[in-house]
Amino acid sequence: MAEIGIVEQFRATHGSNPHEHDFKAEIVVEGRIGFESGYVEGVDHKDLISDLKDIISDIADKDLKEILGKEGYKSSGNESIASFFAQKLKNKYPLKFVRIWETDERYATVYKDEFNNPSF
Ligand SMILES: [Zn+2]
Repeated sequence: MAEIGIVEQFRATHGSNPHEHDFKAEIVVEGRIGFESGYVEGVDHKDLISDLKDIISDIADKDLKEILGKEGYKSSGNESIASFFAQKLKNKYPLKFVRIWETDERYATVYKDEFNNPSF
């Protein structure tokens, strides 16, 4: 098994006591390395980067509590933000986990066995 990851930064507000962060979204996909291609199978790297940038352009500089609330999320905590990204990418890519960094010292990771958790 092999994995590849991408990280993109975005600024947004979250929390019931609204505050802003320069978040980082870390997206990690996994798969076997294709015998012919030499790359992780099932992942078009350029597509993944462009899909991630599309998600970010919809939420950048906005209030995540409002955006996630509209989609039924109970909080805008980092676990919920990670799940929000996962829901939008999981059907197209072999996602292993999504990690949301709110600072260099704090993050939440949601692994694929939580992608269908009904609390999100
Ligand atoms: Zn925060």
